[in-house]
Amino acid sequence: MLRRKYLFVGALTILMVAGFMATSLTSYFVARDSLASSISDQMLPLTSDNIYSEIQRDLLRPILISSVMATDTFVRDWALTGEDDADRIIAYLTEIQNEYDTITAFYVSEESRQYYHPTGVLKTVTAEDPDDIWYFRVRDMRTPFEVNVDTDTADRSRVSIFINYRVLDYQGRYIGATGVGLSVQAVTRLIDTYQQRYDRTIYFVDRQGNVTLTGRDYQGVNRLQDRAGFSPLATQILSTPSTSQDFIDPSGDHIYLNSRLVPEFDWYLIVEQRGTATEARLDSTLLRNLSLSGGIMILVLLIAHFTLRSYQRKLEDMATTDRLTGIANRHLFESIFEHIARSIKRYPRPVSLISIDIDYFKKVNDTHGHHAGDLVLQGVCTVIQENARDSDTLCRWGGEEFVMLLDNCSLEEAVKRAEIIREAVKAHKIAFGRMTISVTLSMGVTGYHVGEPLERVLSRADTALYEAKEAGRDRVITAN
Ligand code: GH3
Ligand code: MG
Ligand code: MG
Repeated sequence: MLRRKYLFVGALTILMVAGFMATSLTSYFVARDSLASSISDQMLPLTSDNIYSEIQRDLLRPILISSVMATDTFVRDWALTGEDDADRIIAYLTEIQNEYDTITAFYVSEESRQYYHPTGVLKTVTAEDPDDIWYFRVRDMRTPFEVNVDTDTADRSRVSIFINYRVLDYQGRYIGATGVGLSVQAVTRLIDTYQQRYDRTIYFVDRQGNVTLTGRDYQGVNRLQDRAGFSPLATQILSTPSTSQDFIDPSGDHIYLNSRLVPEFDWYLIVEQRGTATEARLDSTLLRNLSLSGGIMILVLLIAHFTLRSYQRKLEDMATTDRLTGIANRHLFESIFEHIARSIKRYPRPVSLISIDIDYFKKVNDTHGHHAGDLVLQGVCTVIQENARDSDTLCRWGGEEFVMLLDNCSLEEAVKRAEIIREAVKAHKIAFGRMTISVTLSMGVTGYHVGEPLERVLSRADTALYEAKEAGRDRVITAN
């Protein structure tokens, strides 16, 4: 019984653990997967698209302005006709600067190598001056323009983004470079605004992987390839127009990254997002689910335990005691008998047995009814037990017949005990309504012989009981 209970509780535990774990973990992994795919397939590319289009609006404008300047007939005519009257080009550049709110506008002539600027002729560029390297690069490059982050020739404390546009004459020959400059601070502010609006890390890298533009709080590396364990990803980013990746940072954070080439700059726009916050929320949900499941499991197990225990007790009682009188039934009596019979071999002692039957019990039922009979049965039982020793086992054998097993009791003592009981029952008055009912007992007493089965000792006692009935009832007869 106990073993089956443990089996049941064990199976219940395993089932619940498996069930709770399966549902919690499945929903956790499904949520994690869908989070990862929604970040890398939808949210991040979408943000990247948005940022890209905002950048096009905000940063491509200067490229457009520079392109207009490079193809402006006034600029070209003025340059081709000997750069007479510098004030005219200076006024033009001032106009551009004010109109488009750039920090600078410039024209460098290939013919004179003069650097024209809204404030005047700044300098003459020379191949020897490191500050002027840009000009000779632009002169020789194949693309119509470049975007260059550099210190401003007009204000050396300032880092600017220059759009350097090649100016060609009407035959396509190179005659100079023009363009505008934006302050990096302005662009950085722009990036900061995007970062805040979209809650992402945003930066640009050039084709070599050098980080060219970042927000103010950027704390990453200066080269993509320098990032720990990032080399293969960097190669992939720098060799395709756009990528979507996710990887685990050395700090253990899950990072989603989207890259796309901005062809006008020839730079890659990189947008990163840490999945950690959302994932941590998922983790804590999982933990909460599991502990909740644990709690429910303990509750279910406790309920199961107490329910089983109470049923077990009820079943045990039902299996061993008589419903009407509450004394042992045959089943319990037989196991007690077996137990004593076994122990007697190790610890020899006398054991006796008394067979008891109520005299004329049928008459009680017939005269006063079945209920009165039941009361008499209960009353008789109580009196017998009151006059028996604690170690004596009284059993209702059936109907109004009882058997009593007296451990460690000789035949003589058992006879004495039987007489005491007979007298006590005879003297006892059972109340029934306004009347009282008295009954007598007939008894057969015998001693137990070591090794004999219950049937034999019972049959000897029954024979003595029969003799007692024959001899006129209300008496005790002994059988050896
Ligand atoms: P005697 O033993 O002296 O020969 O006479 P008796 O009248 O006791 O004889 P018998 O053993 O034939 O009758 C037993 C009666 O006990 C018959 C049955 O109806 C009644 N009886 C058996 N079990 C119960 C019970 O649980 N409640 C009641 N009220 N009566 C019971
Ligand atoms: Mg009887
Ligand atoms: Mg009988």
